[in-house]
Amino acid sequence: MNTPKLEDIVSLCKRRGFMYQGSEVYGGLAGTWDYGPLGVQLKRNIVNLWWKMFVEDRDDMYGIDAAILMNQKVWQASGHTETFTDPLVECSNCKGRFRADKIDANKCPTCGKEDTFDNPSQFNMMFKTIVGPKFQSWTRKVPGGLEGEVYFKNQYGERETVWKIEDADNELGGMMVYDSNAVSYLRPETAQGIFTNFKNVVDSFYPDLPFGLAQQGKAFRNEISPRDFVFRSREFEQMEIEYFVHPDKWEEAFEVWRKAVWEWCKALGLPETSVHELEVPEEDRAHYSKRTIDFEFDFPIGREELLGLAYRTDFDLGNIQRASGRNMEYRPKDGGEPFVPHVIEPSFGLERTVMAVLTAAYCEDEVNGEKRTYLRLPEHLAPVKYAVSPLLKNKPELVEKAREVYAALKKKYGNVMWDDNGNIGKRYRRQDEIGTPYCITIDFQTLEDSTITLRNRDTTEQTRVEISSL
Ligand code: ATP
Repeated sequence: MNTPKLEDIVSLCKRRGFMYQGSEVYGGLAGTWDYGPLGVQLKRNIVNLWWKMFVEDRDDMYGIDAAILMNQKVWQASGHTETFTDPLVECSNCKGRFRADKIDANKCPTCGKEDTFDNPSQFNMMFKTIVGPKFQSWTRKVPGGLEGEVYFKNQYGERETVWKIEDADNELGGMMVYDSNAVSYLRPETAQGIFTNFKNVVDSFYPDLPFGLAQQGKAFRNEISPRDFVFRSREFEQMEIEYFVHPDKWEEAFEVWRKAVWEWCKALGLPETSVHELEVPEEDRAHYSKRTIDFEFDFPIGREELLGLAYRTDFDLGNIQRASGRNMEYRPKDGGEPFVPHVIEPSFGLERTVMAVLTAAYCEDEVNGEKRTYLRLPEHLAPVKYAVSPLLKNKPELVEKAREVYAALKKKYGNVMWDDNGNIGKRYRRQDEIGTPYCITIDFQTLEDSTITLRNRDTTEQTRVEISSL
């Protein structure tokens, strides 16, 4: 694979309506991206493929869709409120803030001065929010600052409401006062929505072990330095699977999922030589993991993590059991001893998948002495399957026939585009750029023998075929 430049992909995405910077008209919001008409279709095609491969086509998998806002106890039990942090450093010269493990510790990347960083502080990456209208207010700052909790007692002298006072570092120079029970977080991973529903699904479906739960949806992380297009965003999507196994069987299941991940990469059209396994050493693994393989991809920004495969032991179900007091054991159907299952977790990031698919598909060549850019997307991922054009748009009989073909294909395939802008050569180039596998042109011969010109995106070859064979 010839790795394209990142700016070429970003500019194609913007020009052709795949992705735009979030809130662009107002100058943007760092770490957020909006999907345009073609981007949303590409993303949806990827999600649908994932759901089909890992949920619909299997009988050991169940899908769920949990709420993004969850009880704060979820994040206390999982360790996220304590440990979901990145090391933050501030430059004493220019006040720039950086993730300590991603920079050269001696020299500020913004102002270039050396030895301006203090010891890193731990920055929690969860977006905190207050649920409900109760008790949220801003007050004037108390000189010297004030932090802590205030208790209100009811008529029985019991502590009823706890307000939390936070010395918020905001532009109002104020403090934030809120009911500490109303705190929630935008979920930083979809996994916890799966673990908290483990018992629900077991009770409703009595699945045989091993079995898995799958979820796709938004995740939010207040990344210190969002960068590299959608690669490190503050709002993104994950597609996660928690696969529950007997503790003795985790190694076997890990190997099976490792192969399944390779199958997935193949289905995305990623060249095998551009995907690399990285066995993550113990000191770099998340605290809950006994083994992790990062699947890295040769992105335009270098070799970086595309997805992760982790053995999470019984860490999460064990925590939930302790914190909620609810039993999380699986009761074997053969009457064996109940146990808390262990978990293998393949965790796929959707934005990084979109970026990898675009990287692998981006091609440049020369056609009739002219440079051509095209996306060699696998047919099942292409946002537009067919583009239909009349050869000339001022000939009503051609337009009418083309509309007829367009309507029939659209009914059958859905994602079919009508394109009568500019001359036929321009239309082909435009469709090449968005990865449309086939262009169909209706000309005068069509009116006589019901054949059309079918043009292939990759070879640019044109063949005459019967309309009925499409
Ligand atoms: P990194 O080390 O790059 O920060 P991570 O190891 O924290 O990533 P995980 O917690 O394992 O990531 O999340 C699983 C997947 O979610 C990642 O493999 C990636 O595809 C995706 N992901 C994580 N953080 C982001 C982000 N900020 N923007 C886009 N995708 C992300």
